[in-house]
Amino acid sequence: MAAAGYGNYRNGTHSSRNSLNSTNKVDRPLSFNSNAKNSSLKSKSLNSSGLRKSAPASLGAATEAAKDDAGVPGRVRVAVRLRPRNAEEMVADADFADCVELQPELKRLKLRKNNWDSDTYEFDEVLTEFASQKRVYEVVAKPVVESVLDGYNGTVMAYGQTGTGKTYTLGRLGEEDTAARGIMVRAMEDILADVSQETDSVSVSYLQLYMETIQDLLDPTNDNISIVEDPKTGDVSLPGASLIEIRDQRSFVELLRSGEVHRFAANTKLNTKSSRSHAILMVHVKRSVKGRDSALSSNNGDNSHKVKSLKPPVVRKAKLVVVDLAGSERIDKSGSEGHTLEEAKSINLSLSALGKCINALAENSPHVPVRDSKLTRLLRDSFGGSARTSLVITIGPSPRHRGETASTIMFGQRAMKVQNMLKLKEEFDYKSLARVLDIQLDKLIAEHERQQKAFEEEIERIAIEAQNQISEVERNYEDALEKERVKYQKACMDSIKKLEEKWMLNKQKHVSDDNKVGLKDDSSDVTSKEEGSQVAAMEEVAELKKLLQKEAHLRKAAKEEVDNLKSQLAQSKKLEATGNSEVLKLLKMLEDEACQKEKLEGEIAILQSQLLQVSFEADETRRRLDKGGSEKILGGRDSQMSQLQHPQLNDTANGEKASIAKLFEQVGLHKILSLLEAEDADVRIHAVKVVANLAAEETNQEKIVEAGGLTSLLTLLRSSEDETVHRIAAGAIANLAMNETNQELIMAQGGIRLLSMTAANAEDPQTLRMVAGAIANLCGNDKLQMKLRGEGGIKALLGMVKYRHPDVLAQVARGIANFAKCESRASTQVSNGAGSKNRKSLLIEDGALPWIVQNANNETSQIRRHIELALCHLAQHEVNAKDMISGGALLELVRISRDCSREDIKTLANRTLTSSSTFQAELRRLRIDY
Ligand code: ADP
Ligand code: MG
Repeated sequence: MAAAGYGNYRNGTHSSRNSLNSTNKVDRPLSFNSNAKNSSLKSKSLNSSGLRKSAPASLGAATEAAKDDAGVPGRVRVAVRLRPRNAEEMVADADFADCVELQPELKRLKLRKNNWDSDTYEFDEVLTEFASQKRVYEVVAKPVVESVLDGYNGTVMAYGQTGTGKTYTLGRLGEEDTAARGIMVRAMEDILADVSQETDSVSVSYLQLYMETIQDLLDPTNDNISIVEDPKTGDVSLPGASLIEIRDQRSFVELLRSGEVHRFAANTKLNTKSSRSHAILMVHVKRSVKGRDSALSSNNGDNSHKVKSLKPPVVRKAKLVVVDLAGSERIDKSGSEGHTLEEAKSINLSLSALGKCINALAENSPHVPVRDSKLTRLLRDSFGGSARTSLVITIGPSPRHRGETASTIMFGQRAMKVQNMLKLKEEFDYKSLARVLDIQLDKLIAEHERQQKAFEEEIERIAIEAQNQISEVERNYEDALEKERVKYQKACMDSIKKLEEKWMLNKQKHVSDDNKVGLKDDSSDVTSKEEGSQVAAMEEVAELKKLLQKEAHLRKAAKEEVDNLKSQLAQSKKLEATGNSEVLKLLKMLEDEACQKEKLEGEIAILQSQLLQVSFEADETRRRLDKGGSEKILGGRDSQMSQLQHPQLNDTANGEKASIAKLFEQVGLHKILSLLEAEDADVRIHAVKVVANLAAEETNQEKIVEAGGLTSLLTLLRSSEDETVHRIAAGAIANLAMNETNQELIMAQGGIRLLSMTAANAEDPQTLRMVAGAIANLCGNDKLQMKLRGEGGIKALLGMVKYRHPDVLAQVARGIANFAKCESRASTQVSNGAGSKNRKSLLIEDGALPWIVQNANNETSQIRRHIELALCHLAQHEVNAKDMISGGALLELVRISRDCSREDIKTLANRTLTSSSTFQAELRRLRIDY
């Protein structure tokens, strides 16, 4: 197969029939320069496709990017580089012309066959022996580096015979002469110049692959690293390899140098040359996508009000792989370098496997033997994968190596046919969002606790102070009172004592005077003595008066003192009162604080529900992607309907289940339900999505209904104007309507009217599908038949068929089949008091028959099956027979009894036809043999 390629690109002197354009199918333009768009590196020449997207401005855009799974086509680009003649060749080949001739301006290379004939090949870029390292970098590697910075994986690889300049092209450090720097060094320079030290990170691994063993060139003790493949994404990684973070160019060059030293040592130990092994540099670039109101911005400042705009940050994790392949020349079959034949095979295994893979890809072969070697496993993303890949093939000028040169050229030609699909490696950084939320929550809690504590301390302090003041005043008052009392007592006692003494003295005086009067009747004497005693008494009275006055004074003073103390007491009471009002103020503050806390908790709940909703969507997207890229992503609605049709939740929803469990735990059902009435429309939509997801699980349904979720969902149908809300709410109701108790509840709450109204206003067929699904479930309840019909349920179902969407029709058909089944059950029950025994089907009364007959042979098997069943059920009841005959249903029944692919339905139709006398008579009349 490879040999066939040889003539393909021939444009020699005698073979003009194979013109260059007709054979080289490579899509023009071939140049790397063709699509230069503005890029972060401001390179004029190199961006090779219109891939570079500006950073998505919103979450939605990021999701778009993630959904855009098909990727962008990106062919492997191939440049050929010719090494100048070396000293030896100058001498040895002096008389010979080079075996190749380059036409760089035409991007062609001529390979001389003999003196008069040559083959011409076209490449994406033709680099002559004069091409500078700078130009080689810009043409071969820079577009790939720019892609990596934009979030796409990239590969730069050199292929060619030993000594043709692979290592020169990729690995030169150029320390002595900066112009000589190779691709690895220049790529890192560009990467470091473009990334942000704060938000991005660059880390590298450096490896050698030799004889199917991977050695760590950054840690020589680590010499058997295994490749790990993610079974979901197919991404390969080398968890065992050292991964060193690079912050500046100097440390990177240092690392490359030490890698070279280790490579040399390892090769000496293994007794081989580095030309026999592959060197692989992997540069991991992780960037956070800026330009969004990211969660991180709400880290400081007033954090309670920013949360609504909070969205998970987005990161791009791309990988640049630079591969310096082993020499492409055939190793001596007898085992050079002392190797056995087995070893020799193993040495070449990876390289020949790479060639086979590229052949298979170039020929669009269905099987690409990627798993045949470690190299092809490592490079699975580079060829036929999602990376942008650039290959440089190196050749020498010497005619002595014409064979090797030719085979190198053919390798390059085939590689040019390999088509990759570039995919953005972008994902939501949930971890960092969760971290930010945690930190915010912690801060709020700590702040709240701090305020609470300060408040309690303040109250305690004020209370103690007031108490102290009161007891101090009371003590003072009591002391003063006691003092006064003692003083008075003493004063009183003194006065009384004095009065008594005086009284005694007076008495004695009177007695002695009387005696004297009796003895001597000397009146003048008596008179004078009486006068004397009168004066004394007057004096005494005056003294008493004085005493009394003094006492009155004292009393007054005491009263004043008491007043004074009273006023002091009043004042202290006032103080206490102000203390109390301060306490009240603080209490109010505490209340406000609690209120604020509640609000914050509410907002955190919203965030958590948003986060979980986003995780649902991400999970779902991922699951769908895993299932196969070709399936359309329908968002949450699909999972609801699949639940509607298959009540047992299947295992693919494991991730969702886990998330739901988490949701219950973290947010709580009541909170989620309360969000259904949130003011913010976005929050309402998120909340209804979460509730719908929860309602899809049978285990949650009872809890949701208990907590009033069903009522809230029905209310949403009435109050919301948003069709998305209607659609999701109807889906959730449909899932809840699978249970009999809930069916009664829905009916009791006017569900039919609400669902009919929703259907009447709907524009999206998926909304109708949900509504029809809900009514269809209600149709299956024997007890609700009359009520359902009475409230227009059948009419509503039939009204939806005008939209003709097969998903809607399938639900309508299911509803009708359910209803007919209940009716036929009722008609066969002997003791049915409802009187339906002789009454014809409500379906027929409501005019469903024409549609049923029309769709009895619907091309969608699901619709057909429901309707066939409905017909069989209707036919069970003899009173329906006449209508069925006139409506054309009999012929459909006959068809079903003959052709139906479902054996059970076929038998049922058959039985029904033979047991009905009306049908039998009609069949005889129509001369249909039965
Ligand atoms: P390879 O890695 O393919 O075995 P090397 O890169 O080791 O080859 O190159 C072999 C020799 O040729 C080295 O001495 C290198 O310096 C020299 N060489 C290769 N390419 C060039 C070039 N473009 N210009 C000058 N010297 C070169
Ligand atoms: Mg080399």
